[in-house]
Amino acid sequence: MTKIVGIVGAGAAGLMAAGRAASLGKTVIVFEKNSRAGKKILITGKGRCNVTNNCSMEDLMANIPGNGKFLYSSLNKFNNIDVMDFFENYNVPLRTERGNRVFPESDRSNDIAKALIRYAEGNGAKFIYRSPVKEILVDNGCVSGVKLENNDVYELSSVILATGGMSYQITGSTGDGYRMAQQLGHTLIPPKPSLVPLETREKWVADAQGLALKNVGLTVYDNKGTKVYHDQGEMLFTHFGVSGPMILSASRHILDCEYAGSVLVIDLKPALSEEALDLRVQRDFAKYARKQFSNSLGDLLPKSLIPVIIELSGIDREKPVHQITKAERAKLVSLLKSLKLTVSKARPIDEAIVTAGGISTKEINPSTMESKLIKGLYFAGEIIDVDGYTGGFNLTIAFSTGFTAGTSA
Ligand SMILES: Cc1cc2nc3c(=O)[nH]c(=O)nc-3n(C[C@H](O)[C@H](O)[C@H](O)COP(=O)(O)OP(=O)(O)OC[C@H]3O[C@@H](n4cnc5c(N)ncnc54)[C@H](O)[C@@H]3O)c2cc1C
Repeated sequence: MTKIVGIVGAGAAGLMAAGRAASLGKTVIVFEKNSRAGKKILITGKGRCNVTNNCSMEDLMANIPGNGKFLYSSLNKFNNIDVMDFFENYNVPLRTERGNRVFPESDRSNDIAKALIRYAEGNGAKFIYRSPVKEILVDNGCVSGVKLENNDVYELSSVILATGGMSYQITGSTGDGYRMAQQLGHTLIPPKPSLVPLETREKWVADAQGLALKNVGLTVYDNKGTKVYHDQGEMLFTHFGVSGPMILSASRHILDCEYAGSVLVIDLKPALSEEALDLRVQRDFAKYARKQFSNSLGDLLPKSLIPVIIELSGIDREKPVHQITKAERAKLVSLLKSLKLTVSKARPIDEAIVTAGGISTKEINPSTMESKLIKGLYFAGEIIDVDGYTGGFNLTIAFSTGFTAGTSA
C-alpha cells in the first residue's frame, strides 16, 4: 500500500502538520483549495499575526475555554514556547507585547506564513493548489485516499483533515471538513461564532458608528445576571452594535449563554471614581454655566457621543447648565460610569475570528489526533471542537494539534 500522508488544508495547522510529517521522512501531499497556502494567516492580528502567547502552561490552559483539557497531551508535545523557538529557528525574530502577545518583529504576518511553507516544502512536502477535496475514501474502517471536486482520486495511507472552521469564509474555511468527517460518522458539535462583534438592542449605537473609544472600562453580565468579564481597553461603535478588540475578547465569555440578553456596561471614565467624575462635571458645569446643556459636554465626551448621552440622560438639551439639578447631574455621572447595552445576538459566524464547536473531541485520540472511528484519519486545528480567547491562543492550538497529527500520521 502507498505510504503517503495527505493533508487537506494548507492553513496554520495543515502547514505545521505537513512540515512535521515530511521532516520525519514521510511522503506528504498537501491539498489546498486556494491558489496559495496560509491565506487566513495573512489577516491574523490585523496583518501582524499574534502568533502565540508567551505565558505559563497554566495560563495557556486558562485561555482555552473550549475543551482546553483535550489539548493537554498535544501541548505537552508542542506548546507556545515551542512555537516561539520554531519561528526564531526559521529566521523570524519575535517580539512579546502587552498581555504576553507574541508577534513577528517585522509586524508582517506573511513572514509567519512563509516560514511555515518553507518548513513544509523544505522537507519535501508537495502542494497541490486549487484542489478542493470533496470526500475522504475509506476501506474497511481505514483511510485509503481522497477524492477531489474534479473526481481525481489520490491513494493515501493517512489523511490529516485541517480544513479550519467556518469564519472568514473568503479565506477558504467553509466547513468542508465538517461535512467530510460527518459522512464518516463523526459528530459535529454545532459551530458557533466566537470572538465576534455583537449586535445590541439599543439602536442609538448607530448614531455613534465609527467612534473608537480607547481606554474605556467594560463589564459584561451574562443573561442570568452573572458578571463574566471585566477589562479596560479599546472598543468601537458600529451600525449594528459594538466591535473592537475588547468586545471580541468579551464575546467568548457569553458564548455559552448564546449571547442574547447579556448586558455590556461601559465605563466611559474608568480612571475617575463616581465622586471624582462628579467633581469634574461640576467644574465643567461652572465653566459653561450660561450655556445650554447640549453645549456643556464637549470637554468630557467625543462629539458623536454627546447627542446620545443627552438623550439617555433625559435632561432637556436646551436647559441652561446652571439650572441642572443635583439629581440630574447624578444621573449623568451614573450614565458616564455605566452606559448599558443589551446584546441581541452575535454577528454571523463569517464575521467571527474563530469558530467554536467542530468535530467532537470525544471521537479523537488526544495524544495522536487520530480519529477513534476511522484508522488513519487525523484532525488538526480549528476543525476540532476547541477554541481559545484572543491573544495568540488559537494559532497555538492550530500549531500544536498540527504538530501532533503530523508526528502521528
Ligand atoms: C481576522 C482574523 C484574525 C485572527 N487573528 C489571530 C491572531 O492574531 N492570533 C491567533 O492566534 N489567531 C487568530 N485568528 C484565528 C486563527 O487564524 C485560526 O484559528 C487559525 O488560522 C486556524 O487554522 P487552521 O489551519 O485550523 O484553519 P484555516 O487557517 O482556516 O485553514 C484551513 C485551510 O483549509 C483549506 N480548505 C478548506 N476546505 C478545503 C477543501 N475541501 N479542500 C482543500 N482545502 C480546503 C482552506 O482553504 C484553508 O486554507 C484570527 C482569525 C481571523 C479570521
